[in-house]
Amino acid sequence: MSRVVFKRTKILATVGPSTNSYEAIESMIEEGVNGFRLNFSHGTYDERSQQIAWIRQASARAGKPVAILQDLQGPKIRLGEIKNNSYIVNRGDELILEYGAEHNEKTIPVQYNLADKAKPGQSIYIFDGKIHTKVTEVVSENAIKVRVENGGELMSKKGINLPDTDFAGDIITEKDRRDIEYGLDKDIDFVALSFVQSAEDIEQLRQMLVAGGSTAQIVSKVETKAAVESNTLEEIVRVSDGVMVARGDLAVEVGPEMVPVLQRKIIALCRKYGKVSIVATQLMASMVHSPEPTRAEVSDVATAVILGADTVMLSDETANGSFPMEAIATMKRTIVYTQEHTTLDGLKDVLTGGRQTQSTAISAAVIELAKRVDAAAIVAETKSGATADNIAAFRPSLPIISVTSVPRVAQQLALTYANKSFVRPDGERAGLKLAKEIHEAGFLDTTNDPTRVVIVSGRQPGLIGATDTIRVRMLDIDHPQTDQN
Ligand code: PEP
Repeated sequence: MSRVVFKRTKILATVGPSTNSYEAIESMIEEGVNGFRLNFSHGTYDERSQQIAWIRQASARAGKPVAILQDLQGPKIRLGEIKNNSYIVNRGDELILEYGAEHNEKTIPVQYNLADKAKPGQSIYIFDGKIHTKVTEVVSENAIKVRVENGGELMSKKGINLPDTDFAGDIITEKDRRDIEYGLDKDIDFVALSFVQSAEDIEQLRQMLVAGGSTAQIVSKVETKAAVESNTLEEIVRVSDGVMVARGDLAVEVGPEMVPVLQRKIIALCRKYGKVSIVATQLMASMVHSPEPTRAEVSDVATAVILGADTVMLSDETANGSFPMEAIATMKRTIVYTQEHTTLDGLKDVLTGGRQTQSTAISAAVIELAKRVDAAAIVAETKSGATADNIAAFRPSLPIISVTSVPRVAQQLALTYANKSFVRPDGERAGLKLAKEIHEAGFLDTTNDPTRVVIVSGRQPGLIGATDTIRVRMLDIDHPQTDQN
């Protein structure tokens, strides 16, 4: 019997003008998208509500849980309007960056009061890092003076990065607060926090979500110099549910040459703590305009797979590009080919980050057992998703079939490595029955006869953190009813 190959590294795609319809979302799920990123730097709440409804409808129709990630803008500081949308600055020029001003020669409007935060000597980069300036003076309550180190063209609304500036725990902006409030009662699985500088920023968001009754998990976007300090980075991973390597801004803040090494480090830390890792930005950038990727882009996706990233993300490619479906299909083909023809580097440091718990030990045992009995799949009966996340941290080369009674958990697991999640009303007891269904539908590898699965569960179904049981079951024989749970 031929077998359907599940891709183990997942695809998160950004919805934007190129894909803003029910039909496009349905096609994206068919092509292999596991989650959708809604970028709250753009769009209205009405548009967001419509997109959420479309995604849930298309996901139900496909019978495939998918994740929705609300990406908060954070303190993404931008220039205001520049006259004629162009102003050339040269090395040595002195500019005034003033909050709320009109553009007038060397007075440049900015949408954030930099006088509150920036200090003399600090670097400020404008327009994706193309223009480098240094702060020379805070000239008033809402203006600073900078000297241009590296000239270029200023254009309206271009982004500003302040890699040396400490936001002192003030990274959740007024706009973010309104967006968080909007999302509280929406069907959102992850909230992504931009420009995280420390673990406290995440704790602050966590408190807001919990107080508002949200069950969304938190993805920290690592894209500042402060976040990648060694101890800070580990703390950020520890308190987050997932971490995004936000390579666009990260490259501006730390220099592009540091990004590949940081990407490796972040994925490894995510495995150490059993958190979801997402590699983002420019993976298929040329496919915004071309139906074919560059060789370097294909290699970039393959590298993320070989490093064991849980998820790779598409931004402009699906939001604004001319070939969104081709970008998804190319990414999927690359993921599947790579996973089927390489082995991932093993890590010593998997799930050792202070999590030497019973579930951690059980996860390690499940992986070993599945290898020794040549299992076709691991089945995780899970209430919170933690058991499935822990098993995934070992990066098994066989599918993890997760079954839960909680739709939110199944949707969150959509971004976890090798997970194929299912919702069943009796979710935490449904593992064997589900495995048989999937087997009959031809989804499991039948090379080994009989076909076995390893089922991991808790004897008290539904009790979070109480994973205590491993069973090996052959799918081709009938098990007595008493053995179903
Ligand atoms: C990035 O900077 O890489 C990123 C993902 O963030 P955004 O697209 O929101 O700027």
